[in-house]
Amino acid sequence: MESFESLGLSEITLKVLKEKGYEEPTPIQQKTIPAILKGNKDIIGQAQTGTGKTAAFGLPVLERLPEKSKNVQALILTPTRELAIQVAEELNSLKGKKRLSIVPIYGRQSMELQLRSLKKGIDIVVGTPGRILDHLKRGTLKLDKISYLVLDEADEMLNMGFIDDVREIIESTGNEKRTLLFSATMPFEILQIAKNYMHEYDVLKVNNGQLTVSQTDQIYFEVFEADKFEALCRIIDIEKDFYGLVFCRTKIDVDTVANHLIERGYDADALHGDISQSLREKILAKFKKRQLNILVATDVAARGLDIHNLSHVINYSLPQDPESYVHRIGRTGRAGKGGNAITFITPEEYRKLQFIQRGAKTDIRREKLPKIEDIIRSKKLKIIDHINEIVNLNAQSCYLEMSKELMEHNKPEDLISALLQYSFPDELNEKRYVEIGDAVVDKKGKTRLFVTQGKLDGLTPRKLVNYIKEKSNITAEKIRDVQILDKYSFVTLPFREAEILLTSFKRRKKGSGLFITKAKKGRT
Ligand code: ADP
Ligand code: MG
Repeated sequence: MESFESLGLSEITLKVLKEKGYEEPTPIQQKTIPAILKGNKDIIGQAQTGTGKTAAFGLPVLERLPEKSKNVQALILTPTRELAIQVAEELNSLKGKKRLSIVPIYGRQSMELQLRSLKKGIDIVVGTPGRILDHLKRGTLKLDKISYLVLDEADEMLNMGFIDDVREIIESTGNEKRTLLFSATMPFEILQIAKNYMHEYDVLKVNNGQLTVSQTDQIYFEVFEADKFEALCRIIDIEKDFYGLVFCRTKIDVDTVANHLIERGYDADALHGDISQSLREKILAKFKKRQLNILVATDVAARGLDIHNLSHVINYSLPQDPESYVHRIGRTGRAGKGGNAITFITPEEYRKLQFIQRGAKTDIRREKLPKIEDIIRSKKLKIIDHINEIVNLNAQSCYLEMSKELMEHNKPEDLISALLQYSFPDELNEKRYVEIGDAVVDKKGKTRLFVTQGKLDGLTPRKLVNYIKEKSNITAEKIRDVQILDKYSFVTLPFREAEILLTSFKRRKKGSGLFITKAKKGRT
């Protein structure tokens, strides 16, 4: 393992790193720091999220820039305002006593403030493409003399549609600069940018996720789309200290899942592109302080976030490709701590999972969801632990008085049971959990369904079968065990057909008409 000392950094920087508590360079830092420090070629640096890419370009650029320059010396482009702030902060903390002014310039911040600091003179501008372009057009920022241009999180700038802005910005810079392009992935369009705009360059790459993936326990569960939420609750409930990110594909899914979690009493919140920056920052601060322990997010919203030591990353929906799988799960198991990566797949997604598994060169093993009784047992243990802790801290005397009074008339075990019931009226209630259909990929599974009408509503087996046939194109022989009771009915379908039927009901509001849901345990 290389040390910071062997990379050619100055004594001053080494001292700063020591103070910051960085013990050794990360793999991407080992590669890019000497290359930027000693060489003069352009550089492409590729390593997954959370591998210290900021310092990988920041340290050598800070070392090489002279003090007391009269013009902007370096421009660092980042995809979001938050990243601009984060990168500027990181660089400010790395520069030590060196007199370089490093300022973030981003959209929705007061123009006046920015103009003032631009006038005073900035050495390193860390900015988002839109606002930088604004300043270029107004003539309030000049980039013709910069010696470094850094494109940070280049793939993300592409994803967010900034690539044309980035091109325009590059074209307004002088020819005497070095370009450093950092990215977690290298899509074709990014390589095109490199080809078109960079001088001779070296590609310095750290293989995807080898480290984090090996430290992360990866499992998948087969669940129907309609059962995912229930499955998520079970996973959270069985853990002692759940602290995790839940990834959904769309903003709408993120909102839905987060809202359901909040309704069910969890400390959760949502993070996606439509959430205002100030709210985003508040949510993140809460999450970091663990006032929230569940954050539901889209890939874009979660990228580049500096969050550590997650116990869980949950792929509520499958990631697009192996690379984003590796990114997502790379957020757990950092700093040598093992984490858990859990992926939900619907029966139809089995092949996509295999594709991801092959691409990520990893092993994701199948597991069964925790059973309701296991969760209840785990919750009981949590309660017992918690109460023991309180006993050890000594109860307050006013409670002791009450306790004595209560003891005069009751047996201890009756008393404690009553108190537990009082404190946890619903916590250990099995009915909080909905039965989950076993979504087995071998297609043999069946699902028992609950129908909200019965004999009294005029429902007959034939009517029900016809109704289901009409709703879901299911042939009659697949419909089994029709049971019509007075007020409600049951029917069994193969899980795939049940899934289709249930999805069609999910989109409708529960009204007075016939409604079908999954049957709960004990009711059939
Ligand atoms: P990336 O840009 O690759 O996603 P960052 O530069 O944001 O990663 O770094 C992720 C976190 O790791 C930051 O909190 C940063 O301070 C920390 N970090 C960076 N380099 C080191 C190092 N050599 N040792 C310890 N922590 C580091
Ligand atoms: Mg970064």
